Amino acid sequence: MSANDPPKIVVTRETPGSYDPIAAQGANVVIGPPSGYPDQADLHRFLRDNAPIDAVVSMFHDQVNDAFLDAAGGRLRAVVNFAVGYDNIDTAACARRRVTVCNTPEATTEGTADITWTLLLAAARRLPELDPFVRRGGWAEHGLMGMSDFLGLDIAGRTLHIIGAGRIGMAVALRSIGWGMPILYTSRSRKRDWENAPLNATRVTIDEGLRIADFVSIHCPLNDETRHLINADRLAKMKSRAVLINTARGAIIDEAALVEALKSGTIRAAGLDVLEYEPHPAPGLIDLPNVALTPHIGSGASKYRAMMTEIVCENVTAILQNQTPPNPVT
Ligand code: NAP
Repeated sequence: MSANDPPKIVVTRETPGSYDPIAAQGANVVIGPPSGYPDQADLHRFLRDNAPIDAVVSMFHDQVNDAFLDAAGGRLRAVVNFAVGYDNIDTAACARRRVTVCNTPEATTEGTADITWTLLLAAARRLPELDPFVRRGGWAEHGLMGMSDFLGLDIAGRTLHIIGAGRIGMAVALRSIGWGMPILYTSRSRKRDWENAPLNATRVTIDEGLRIADFVSIHCPLNDETRHLINADRLAKMKSRAVLINTARGAIIDEAALVEALKSGTIRAAGLDVLEYEPHPAPGLIDLPNVALTPHIGSGASKYRAMMTEIVCENVTAILQNQTPPNPVT
């Protein structure tokens, strides 16, 4: 490999959309298999086989640590995460090696807000029980529904507490307007735009919000401060009719404590797009009728995934041109 070789960009798994804008810069783009490398040793082997690499496009399940960076080789200039959250990246290790880290904000906002509402509605109106009831012939066997069968939780006018008042939190809150829900928000800094129309939201501490709200939805990043932010003590502060939704990162909730809270009726129901140890649910979770589950698919609509690829291309192109990329993670 000589200094005149074209830059090499490695994408660790196939994504919708085109990497042609990077190839048009004269770069050699290598794309991993459709299912990526769930096994980190296989991922490192793939990187080593393609080293030296100038930029890696990583996925949220790739652990970007010293071993990953070593495997990519000493020419690495950037890691662009195909995600907004970058809790999978050791940013300190990247900084030590002067490797720029970027992410793909904006593209995931609407899709993740949609999956949040999918789960909120499903958990409140008992979709995890109702769908199998119809499919497995329970309805046909039972006959017409009694007026007290499978009663759900009403949503309109109920209070919604958003933990993490950023892009996705805002999109979730805006979608609640049709339901006329008072909005509470928790974030480290005050957000005046949340306190103005149309949301007219009230800033609360996390514990105040958990005590008051009927629906709690998590939208903060996962980091040392937010790991197990929702634990057994906090679950105990919630209303027994409350519904907890998590589309951020699984480890923000102590999942074993959540299983207990759902079993014992401490809270009514939950909706989870993310798990603490993906793709493995905590023992007992999938046996519970009062939890709606999706497999970390917040941004999973073709428009948004293609938009993420576009944003990746913009960041890699800027790096190749020695310019500041549009979405560095600081
Ligand atoms: P964002 O715009 O950066 O919003 C995150 C918000 O969280 C910020 O406004 C921040 O405000 C707040 N925050 C940070 N630390 C906090 C803490 N300790 N307590 C309470 N609030 C805190 O990010 P986003 O685009 O909305 O994405 C949010 C998260 O969603 C991502 O980090 C990612 O993990 C997750 N996500 C999941 C999917 C999926 O497929 N399920 C897709 C996209 C994103 P302050 O700085 O003022 O606290």
